[in-house]
Amino acid sequence: MDETHEPSRASWVESAQGATDFPIQNLPFGVFRRKEDGDETPGTVGIAIGRQILDVAAGHDEGRFEGLADRAAGACAAPSLNRLMALGRPHWIELRRQVSALLTADSPAYRANRRLGDRILVPMTEAELLLPAVIGDYTDFYASVHHATNVGSMFRPDNPLLPNYKWVPIGYHGRASSIVPSGSAVRRPRGQVKDAPAEAPGFGPSRSLDYEMELGCFVGPGNSLGEAVPLDQAEDHLFGLCLVNDWSARDVQSWEYQPLGPFLAKSFATTVSPWVVTFEALEPFRTAALARPPGDPAPLPYLSSERNAARGGVDVTVEVYLASAQMRLQGIPPQLLSRSRAADLYWTLAQMFTHHASNGCNLRPGDLFATGTISGMGKEARGCMLELTWRGAEPIVLPTGESRKFLEDGDEVIMAGLCERGGAAPIGFGECRGVVLSA
Ligand code: CA
Repeated sequence: MDETHEPSRASWVESAQGATDFPIQNLPFGVFRRKEDGDETPGTVGIAIGRQILDVAAGHDEGRFEGLADRAAGACAAPSLNRLMALGRPHWIELRRQVSALLTADSPAYRANRRLGDRILVPMTEAELLLPAVIGDYTDFYASVHHATNVGSMFRPDNPLLPNYKWVPIGYHGRASSIVPSGSAVRRPRGQVKDAPAEAPGFGPSRSLDYEMELGCFVGPGNSLGEAVPLDQAEDHLFGLCLVNDWSARDVQSWEYQPLGPFLAKSFATTVSPWVVTFEALEPFRTAALARPPGDPAPLPYLSSERNAARGGVDVTVEVYLASAQMRLQGIPPQLLSRSRAADLYWTLAQMFTHHASNGCNLRPGDLFATGTISGMGKEARGCMLELTWRGAEPIVLPTGESRKFLEDGDEVIMAGLCERGGAAPIGFGECRGVVLSA
């Protein structure tokens, strides 16, 4: 930890004081464009500070950075974070330090010129937030043992957790082309569905559309093809985290998933939050990897290290809210559906990365991997509707009296993430939001 994490550090940007996801201790990266510039203008890299966005390239053009930070800021004059991600941690750390120094209340640059903000800041209300990176590949893991156990017990009551689960971080290759930024509407997919008593499947709109509450991790420099990455070096390749909604069509999924895993039930859309919270910002919120219950096997040596056990976890609390079209019409605020913790995941992000690369598979800057649905022990910590309503058996009742087994057209799903710990300034992830359109 360094001066950028000091809870007492304040910014001259007024909206960064008080309750905000983006105090000066956070400084998450994203890609934005000024609304006035129109849809055809490519985005550029920004850093969220309160309700403003620091235009990193504008700061670079003004000569505000030096050394590694200057090079890192130069890589931000781009419509994606990929070039910055490729540079690696020393560059990220130095840019963060110098951005924090530029934005602190006692910044000499600000004292010399109180109009500094006019040149390097853009109000969020005047910006459109885009995908943070060109995502070459997307992988989705299944790292919550609570989620795996809940889902498994619905389909295989006698054998909820398959024998490989506690040995191998389970995942599948997802679809990168259909990843959309928060705020994009999601069209209900059509697919092949077979109702249990029916002899043959039919084709039509999914009747059990679901969300999945996950964290996504963006890859930094990455590894060469054929080159595995030892566990204690994995975090050198992890740039930062975002919120992920892995929309899922459960009826399509249950008919198609055997024997090769999810396919069209997942590939129609995945929503990510626009701000990437860096591992530097998450430093005060690192925690031990989940302690395995007695009787569980120890991870194999390539997935095991003292450092990973001691601080491989991240203590992020994630929340899911739902607002139906009727609730929005009546001005009723979104209803909290669940709250769970990334610290409860069975596998750490470093273990997921190292396992992914263990066969020599190369991961590249801007690649995204997600944790899988984050669920906890209790009902209030179930990270998808399949679990919350127990496959529709226990519908959710909304404040309007409407009930939900799965998502209806017009429903809006809103996800949030928060890090809080004594002695540290709380930071948040912003929102991951999407409304369901009819098929
Ligand atoms: Ca998933």
